[in-house]
Amino acid sequence: MTTAMGGGRSAGRTPAAVGLGGVTVRFRTRRREVTAVSGVSLDVAAGEFVAIVGPSGCGKSTLLKLVAGLLAPTEGEVRLGGERVTGPRRDIGYVFQRAALLEWRSVRRNILLQAEMRRMPAATARGRAEELIAMTGLDGFEDAYPHELSGGMRQRVALCRALLHRPPVLLMDEPFGALDALTREQLNTELNRIWRETGTTVLLVTHSISEACALAGRVVVMSPRPGTVTEITEVALPAERDYTATVARPEFREATVRVRRLLGAAPTGG
Ligand code: ADP
Ligand code: MG
Repeated sequence: MTTAMGGGRSAGRTPAAVGLGGVTVRFRTRRREVTAVSGVSLDVAAGEFVAIVGPSGCGKSTLLKLVAGLLAPTEGEVRLGGERVTGPRRDIGYVFQRAALLEWRSVRRNILLQAEMRRMPAATARGRAEELIAMTGLDGFEDAYPHELSGGMRQRVALCRALLHRPPVLLMDEPFGALDALTREQLNTELNRIWRETGTTVLLVTHSISEACALAGRVVVMSPRPGTVTEITEVALPAERDYTATVARPEFREATVRVRRLLGAAPTGG
């Protein structure tokens, strides 16, 4: 049911899509030094869906920023596709809790922003955008403006924008945290389908134990700050997961009970 830290399934074959090796991050502020994460090792295989859960301030967002190359580790190393991350990476997609859409641009043009920033060929980008709009059920809203959309639809637009350039790795930081429960469950089912259709590797940070266990093949449970990996819990369910059907399964319940216990039993860090 559980695995030791690191040494993902792909060890010895292809390089891990994401690799963290003994990563420690310390922030030095004027008053004090904060160790956000300490000695974190994790290998994520290509095409895997991994969720990260842990108490507030344990360094979950910090881990995603490391993978994106927006932050450098104080100790240890970070790899993407076997290559050491030394600066901001363009071969990732990033989705945040707030969709951060440009209010003066239509849905289609918000999605195409990604293409403009990357100077993708216009025709390729437009074709890919239409594909994603259909995949996320946004058809009919291509010309709508963000203020006309529900929270769930805004996150779908953010997801399309993050996937436009077909990133091998998708980083999601509490993407559904601001949505109502029903919308969130519906988006969980959709994200599962999109993940299977695109084959992208997903690293999802969430506060929701159910969301983590409903979506991920493995759930990384972190301790309070300084964040360390308490355990990596496997969720023994098939890749195809409808949220409602999944939460009724005993394997789902088993995983959530275990993760909840790990989070509750985690010692308080200094
Ligand atoms: P989480 O996402 O798990 O809530 P974060 O990764 O955002 O946690 O932050 C982990 C810890 O590092 C927190 O204590 C936070 O205050 C601190 N921290 C994060 N970013 C910075 C920064 N740029 N400067 C100083 N401290 C930071
Ligand atoms: Mg965070």
